[in-house]
Amino acid sequence: MNALNGENVIVGWEDHQLYRNVLSLMEAAGEQIQLDPNVYERLSKPRRCLYVSIPVRMDDGSIRTFDGFRVHHNTTLGPAKGGIRYHPDVNLAETSALAMLMTLKNSLVRLPLGGAKGGIRCDPSKLSRREKQSLTRRYTSEIFMFIGPDKDIPAPDIGTDQQTMAWVMDTYSAQTGFAVPGVVTGKPIEIGGSLGRLDATGRGVVYTVIEAAKRLNMELTENTTVAVQGFGNVGYHSAKIISSVGCKLVAVSDVSGGVYNAGGLDAGELRDWIAQNKAIKGFPKGDAITNEELLELPVDILIPAALSGQITVSNARNIQCKILAEGANGPTTSEASQILNDKGIFTIPDILANAGGVIVSYFEWVQGMQSFFWSEKDVNNKLWEIISNAFNRTFEVHSQKKIDMRLAAFVASIEHISKAMLWRGFFP
Ligand code: NAD
Repeated sequence: MNALNGENVIVGWEDHQLYRNVLSLMEAAGEQIQLDPNVYERLSKPRRCLYVSIPVRMDDGSIRTFDGFRVHHNTTLGPAKGGIRYHPDVNLAETSALAMLMTLKNSLVRLPLGGAKGGIRCDPSKLSRREKQSLTRRYTSEIFMFIGPDKDIPAPDIGTDQQTMAWVMDTYSAQTGFAVPGVVTGKPIEIGGSLGRLDATGRGVVYTVIEAAKRLNMELTENTTVAVQGFGNVGYHSAKIISSVGCKLVAVSDVSGGVYNAGGLDAGELRDWIAQNKAIKGFPKGDAITNEELLELPVDILIPAALSGQITVSNARNIQCKILAEGANGPTTSEASQILNDKGIFTIPDILANAGGVIVSYFEWVQGMQSFFWSEKDVNNKLWEIISNAFNRTFEVHSQKKIDMRLAAFVASIEHISKAMLWRGFFP
């Protein structure tokens, strides 16, 4: 293990819980399909990892150096694709695990894209706009040789948004000498973003819930209760869209805590409150609850849309939902997942539930390359088509092999990518 700046930012892969979770699922999926051990060996490690140190002049005149990463896990199916995360817990192992999940997600939904992830270890809530801009531009400049429309296309993730993507695009374009919109997705519409991208991940979460409800013969009505953990891009849009299909949003939370109202909450009002008060804490139309309490509420649908490792052996037995739709990446540990299965909870795993974001990112990339833009209706219809096909593919494996949805998604994904890897072979 290496210590940089007194912190372990280059954490060994095997020491990271999410990395171990993904590996053990890949192994179990491999056993289901007699996966070539050489393919497993290659998939179990990232293709390449870049570490960068990022100096930033802070508003008080001092200079701080941040740690950043960009990882390409696999590029067999096409250019690497994955978000950039700004969070204090970012390290190499987490970034690599998330890149591995991106490979599997893109393969499951059959996009011609590989898997990548990036991140900077920082607390964006403590940075001014100017500091964030300097950080983003210097990071982009350091990873310049690693990214590009044919190589690796970043997108937003925790702590980053369309403004961050605009700065990445501008910095990349300035160094190239001309506008290169295809270098990132999740950009503002005015510089080549796609209609429907902002709410795509949340919309995809809801589309998979609709598919799951059909299979469970569960009607989605005003009596169907929903709790959402995390109220950022994924959480807010999931909450808003699931309310618009007629379900009752009863609890939401963010890093400051949560709010519960059995009579229902309005996602728009919560959004306005956060815009003024910076946090959900103190929202007057409901009772304050903790993040832990939110996860254990007796609701029909639970959508974790914040960090990984939220549902663990210590709380899994208390989870009471009928459908768990994983908006976040890796919110449930392997051991907890087993407990949920035993309780009969239907889990829509992350690589399926939150694939809407990368699907519409793919549309944005295609539109940018062709300089030909689609209507929002077209985007949402095509999203529905791709994500419901992926749901059906996963559900079929789940029913045929009598395995849970998470393992089924890994099987359906690895079957595809392993064939592609075997066709291509390797150099030399
Ligand atoms: P975001 O930064 O917009 O929002 C994150 C939310 O989580 C915020 O409301 C924050 O307050 C909350 N949060 C942070 N720490 C928390 C904690 N300890 N407990 C409860 N809430 C906490 O991020 P996002 O883009 O919405 O991403 C959320 C999750 O969805 C991540 O796991 C991300 O990898 C995944 N994801 C995002 C996208 C996307 O398109 N943005 C796509 C696929 C998956």
